[in-house]
Amino acid sequence: MAGKIIVVGAGIGGLATAARLSSKGYDVEVFEKLPVCGGRNNIIEDRGFKFDTGPSFVLMPDFFEELFTYCNKDIKDYLDLKVLDPSYKIFYPDSDVLTVFKDSDKTKEELERIEKGAAKGFDGFIRETTRLYNITRPLLYKCFSKKTLFDVRYLPLLFKLNPLKSYWDIAKKFFKSEKLLYAFTFEAMFMGVSPFNAPGFYSIISYADHVQKIFHPMGGMYEIPKSLEKICLENGVKIHYNSPVSKINKINRKLSISTDTMITEADKVVVNADYSYTQESLLKRKLPDYKYSCSVYLIYLGLKKKLGPLAHHNLFFSSNLIKNLDEIFSLKNVPGDPSFYIHVPTVTDSSLAPEGKEILYLLIPVPNLDNPKEDFYSKEIYLRNIVFNKINKTLDINLEDLIEVEHRFYPKDFIGKYNIKFGATFGLAHNLMQSAFFRPVNFDNKFRNLYFVGASTQPGGGLPVVIAASRIVADLITL
Ligand SMILES: Cc1cc2nc3c(=O)[nH]c(=O)nc-3n(C[C@H](O)[C@H](O)[C@H](O)COP(=O)(O)OP(=O)(O)OC[C@H]3O[C@@H](n4cnc5c(N)ncnc54)[C@H](O)[C@@H]3O)c2cc1C
Repeated sequence: MAGKIIVVGAGIGGLATAARLSSKGYDVEVFEKLPVCGGRNNIIEDRGFKFDTGPSFVLMPDFFEELFTYCNKDIKDYLDLKVLDPSYKIFYPDSDVLTVFKDSDKTKEELERIEKGAAKGFDGFIRETTRLYNITRPLLYKCFSKKTLFDVRYLPLLFKLNPLKSYWDIAKKFFKSEKLLYAFTFEAMFMGVSPFNAPGFYSIISYADHVQKIFHPMGGMYEIPKSLEKICLENGVKIHYNSPVSKINKINRKLSISTDTMITEADKVVVNADYSYTQESLLKRKLPDYKYSCSVYLIYLGLKKKLGPLAHHNLFFSSNLIKNLDEIFSLKNVPGDPSFYIHVPTVTDSSLAPEGKEILYLLIPVPNLDNPKEDFYSKEIYLRNIVFNKINKTLDINLEDLIEVEHRFYPKDFIGKYNIKFGATFGLAHNLMQSAFFRPVNFDNKFRNLYFVGASTQPGGGLPVVIAASRIVADLITL
């Protein structure tokens, strides 16, 4: 055996790391606080409805393929990834609708209808984001310490990435209308950051949407953690559920972790639990003055019948997006006219609901719980009504009449359920000073045999990127 490894947390980052290391012959044990795996990529099952509670977009499938190949598995034996068409629909406040298709020529016709010359702008935008993707992709598999910042080999790359330009600046070079600027920057919100503050290289998410396309795993997003759990179990990984770790201890050259019932020693420990929580609660360390992503308010509805006009992914923009972003990130108020997202996976995958019924998952970005200026809970019903009324006005659908099952998830639930600091759904903010070199590294500076993997470490959040982090950690341990 190559050594004993403990992984704290069975989120995507923890499972992917455990799958990789067990594939290389390490003796791996996973300790997870919850009774099930997946972390934020979770599921609620109720009366025949299967709600994926977290991620809904599978982007950059090559990152998923790399993981399965690393573990000597064929992804096709584990996941049935279906490409979506249309990719998504955007509903504007003036009732205009932009449909983004798998076929970019069809998308360009839509863009041209909204802004003369936008088809050419689209080609330019794709060229620029492809260039950024080609530079960024290999960097996503590297761990950068502050020392690397002064490494002359990386300086030309830094210039090529032009990090002082924002996501918004990149889009602004190619589109003029607010409608299209929003349509080509909303993906920043997937990282929980405003497009005005997200470094331009995050526009590789737009590249992924438009060039690599958007996928759905048949059977639902929860198939992803299930498939990784399966590889772990096939490799003999021992997974302890309902086992919150309360402390990480250093004993001579080894580390141990404590739970309510046991202390377990290992050669190395990989922590997948939220980075800030880990530093404060498991290692009893003081945190630097980090900035955090926004939170989200989630409503999961099981509907009595199918709806017509929605696609698998749907975005509804606020009539004043700048004010909306200000409310979420600066003023920290409950938004008065929110942008929101609707996931209707049953458009693609009927296995997720009883026959003839529909799932609707509403995601509304709201401030995190780091010094909020307003009590979210006293305004919850107000916010829910605004969103329901907007859907009614835009689509002529009265959701209240159709609800068979309803679940809600609040900012505070990200703390209570997953130990995410300040309920910041996407972890540490993805601003320039917390990206690449400046994001927490994947190894500990004090304990030689302690590692970190997850959305708040390098390279960042989102499923493919967390999967890349698991490769970084596996390389640090095995190479
Ligand atoms: C609503 C929502 C929508 C999203 N949409 C997308 C999307 O469309 N596409 C995309 O790619 N990404 C999306 N994301 C982001 C993506 O889900 C995350 O980046 C990713 O799942 C984070 O995985 P992780 O392994 O870093 O952390 P987590 O999922 O948080 O896993 C950490 C695990 O550690 C466990 N843990 C915590 N404390 C302890 C302890 N003391 N002891 C033991 N275990 C502990 C937790 O219970 C959890 O299981 C979304 C996230 C959310 C919440």
